[in-house]
Amino acid sequence: AALAEEFTADVEAARAELDEGPVPVVAVVGRPNVGKSTLVNRILGRRQAVVEDVPGVTRDRVAYDAQWAGRRFTLVDTGGWEPDAKGRAAAIATQAEIAMRTADVILLVVDAIVGATDTDEAAARVLQRGGKPVLLIANKIDDQRLEPEAAGLWSLGLGEPFPISALHGRGSGDLLDEILKLLPEMPEDREPKAGGPRRVALVGRPNVGKSSLLNQLSKDDRAVVDSVAGTTVDPVDTLVDIDGETFHLVDTAGLRRRVAQASGTEYYASLRTQSAIEAAEVAVVLLDSSEPISEQDQRVLTQVVEAGRALVIVFNKWDLVDEDRRYYLDREIDRELKRITWAPRINISALTGRAVQKLAREIRTALDGWEQRVSTGELNQWLAALIAAHPHPIRGGKAPRILFATQVDIRPPRFILFTSGRLDPQYVRYVERRLREDFGFIGSPISITVKARE
Ligand code: GDP
Ligand code: GDP
Repeated sequence: AALAEEFTADVEAARAELDEGPVPVVAVVGRPNVGKSTLVNRILGRRQAVVEDVPGVTRDRVAYDAQWAGRRFTLVDTGGWEPDAKGRAAAIATQAEIAMRTADVILLVVDAIVGATDTDEAAARVLQRGGKPVLLIANKIDDQRLEPEAAGLWSLGLGEPFPISALHGRGSGDLLDEILKLLPEMPEDREPKAGGPRRVALVGRPNVGKSSLLNQLSKDDRAVVDSVAGTTVDPVDTLVDIDGETFHLVDTAGLRRRVAQASGTEYYASLRTQSAIEAAEVAVVLLDSSEPISEQDQRVLTQVVEAGRALVIVFNKWDLVDEDRRYYLDREIDRELKRITWAPRINISALTGRAVQKLAREIRTALDGWEQRVSTGELNQWLAALIAAHPHPIRGGKAPRILFATQVDIRPPRFILFTSGRLDPQYVRYVERRLREDFGFIGSPISITVKARE
């Protein structure tokens, strides 16, 4: 207890530093070549942020951490995919729709020198439907003489055009001030909400069986909707009953409508996946057991881990797995899922309905792990025993010591270790492995921050 007191100030400082909380999202929308990437780079303040695009190629990252005047926000570039000329109006409408759904503030970027094109108008029409604040950016106003060009964009019906030069930075500070004014205050989302169905994202690369599973689960979902009167469920979401418990599946509209059948689907699918994961407490990642675990599968898993959500891995299409396939699959799992052996796994068939009801138990397990808390007293006792049995190796004549540890957060669990001197990353991994062995945290990513005390 004396030790805990001694560390109170350090814990508070570390907690403040770590405490990110939910941040608002700003989406950048616009047709190709208007200067979206240039603007994103300008806002991020670093050149390398957005890699040069190969036309038509999907970028991995779509969301970036940005900051202005001490306020953090996520910047989402919805224009990472370049449609051919023919598909442009449709593609931009999709972009705008996704932005409306996922962002708190939307920036529609237009090339003011070219003026409003049909494609710009298509985007504007979607954004006019309202719901979200939109800033109309008149880009490429490189000097004052060009300012009158911006006025032509009033015709888009989105209010006053905001003149900037993304390339030279002209007006970008004012723009950021304006963005900050529009950002909503974020509610604290740390502690479990009382009652209400748990929020689940059904994700995975195309064709793994997400919509089939959704159909299987929601065969009889009207009764469910009625039974949870008073809960606010987005029209794009679905309430389902699994094994007697109601779950809230987020952003299922895309799975039902099979939105974008055109090229570029993959890019928008990854945007949607990101937003579904963020809206959920637990992500159910589907894999196709009849096929090798792919890069794309790994990307989805990484998205979940990086977002700090609970995770359940579902091997779907189990009806297609014979003994032969089983043999290779086991090896693939050992090789490809080594970093997430902590996630519960379940074999199902969305087609036949095999084991889908068992999903409920795995989801509950993962959520329990995500919300698990170890008291400071218990943690330090455990750590003392661990260190005694397995001390840190000696480096340069002395061994760094762990002085005190505490769990600062749940959803997901986060730990801080205060030490004298730097710990080997290998030793930190050892501590994490033992934490999991002895306390569980099944189905949840956990993070360990090491603070060396002078
Ligand atoms: P994106 O396709 O919308 O992401 O557009 P980019 O950011 O790739 O920009 C397209 C082209 O417009 C590039 O050659 C940029 O250098 C240029 N550009 C972007 N912003 C400005 C600007 O403010 N002024 C001028 N003159 N050119 C710009
Ligand atoms: P999504 O793109 O992830 O939504 O995948 P779908 O639900 O559209 O499924 C893609 C294809 O896989 C469809 O032809 C489904 O019938 C098939 N499929 C889905 N689940 C299963 C399953 O459990 N077993 C088998 N054999 N096929 C499945």
